[in-house]
Amino acid sequence: MKLMELNKYQTPQPTNLSREKIFEVARKIANTTGFLPGNDIRNYIKKVFNAEIVDQKGNKYKNIDTSKDALFVNSTGSLLIFLKDGVNDLRKNFTIAHELGHYILHSQFGIIPIRAYRYGSHRLEWEANWFAAEFLMPQEEITKLKNEGLTSVEMSDHFQVSVTAMNIRIESLGL
Ligand SMILES: [Zn+2]
Repeated sequence: MKLMELNKYQTPQPTNLSREKIFEVARKIANTTGFLPGNDIRNYIKKVFNAEIVDQKGNKYKNIDTSKDALFVNSTGSLLIFLKDGVNDLRKNFTIAHELGHYILHSQFGIIPIRAYRYGSHRLEWEANWFAAEFLMPQEEITKLKNEGLTSVEMSDHFQVSVTAMNIRIESLGL
């Protein structure tokens, strides 16, 4: 294969798995790699998936537009996550988990070189969001905490996500 071809990205395709199936994938990944609710996902993704996280500020990849959140999985399987500025760390945690969802579901653990920008609302983005939601905020744990009487603000702190993400998650589960 020519070097040119090696650097080509494919357009990511949705898996078309059901929401429940994607939740299951997220649980399996969390369980097998030892990710627990509230863990530092930045550290985790660097250690477990050898990902490089690039914040817009101080970005050394001058040729890449980082005004949007983005994921690059190269032909070598390397995982590069760009995070735009002006967003707090809790929201960035969700973005990191979302990009991990793309890596697992749509690049199939780095086999398919893809580029994904985080915008729009279509199947591909839903799948990454479903993955991120269950990965960071497992349904089982939310149910447990709710029964213990925790508020969504307390839960958002427990899971290290924004209150907005927490509320969306609780509502989408019908809890
Ligand atoms: Zn995305």
